[in-house]
Amino acid sequence: MKTIGLLGGMSWESTELYYRWINEETKHRLGGLHSAPVAMVSVDFQHIEELQHQGNWEAAGEFLAEKALQVEAAGAGFLLLCTNTMHKVAPQIEAAISIPLLHLADATAKRIREAGLTTVGLLGTKFTMEQDFYRGRLEQQGLSVLIPAQGDRDIIHRVIYEELCLGKIVADSRKEYLRIIDQLAAAGAEGVIEGCTEIVMLVQQEHTRIPLFDTTAIHAREAVSLALQ
Ligand code: GLU
Repeated sequence: MKTIGLLGGMSWESTELYYRWINEETKHRLGGLHSAPVAMVSVDFQHIEELQHQGNWEAAGEFLAEKALQVEAAGAGFLLLCTNTMHKVAPQIEAAISIPLLHLADATAKRIREAGLTTVGLLGTKFTMEQDFYRGRLEQQGLSVLIPAQGDRDIIHRVIYEELCLGKIVADSRKEYLRIIDQLAAAGAEGVIEGCTEIVMLVQQEHTRIPLFDTTAIHAREAVSLALQ
């Protein structure tokens, strides 16, 4: 089994889920006492969040590229960037490393196509919902992507940074997310992407009949498949 490289800490609340689900999937597939070989570098999210909100993506990309090289040097066979948002700087990271990056939007698009859906809603940070680096990549793979209205995007974004990345689960926020998911479905979404690695902490499939695509679980499972190839 190849060593799975994780560049995490964005936030650590979801990186913890990656580590757990990668190992649970490995145990499920291999049995016995098997667990996954993992090489991880976890960063200080405060630093990343400041660069994001200053719009200094260049510096964020340089910083993460350097950390990705450390993951490679630790023996990883490939890399997972454990956040949807920071895939905005995926090209900078890919240019720096010589191992493959398992792109989160590609793994997600693959899972949605396997489920036979073509029109999906996208929840995530405003960067992920509004900019092209993520939506565009899904659309290139044949999907139609719907996003919430402006005011609802503000709510989704605020809850991610002020609650979920701090480990706070608030029932009223779950109600808001479910309302927004229902609206996306009413607008034609056949399923909804939880395109931020912390959203699964708040909303799980049991809360709605609309199919959810949790990017953390999708990425973790795809990593195990790739590591076992
Ligand atoms: N983990 C989140 C994501 O998947 C948000 C934190 C970040 O900005 O990296 O986009």
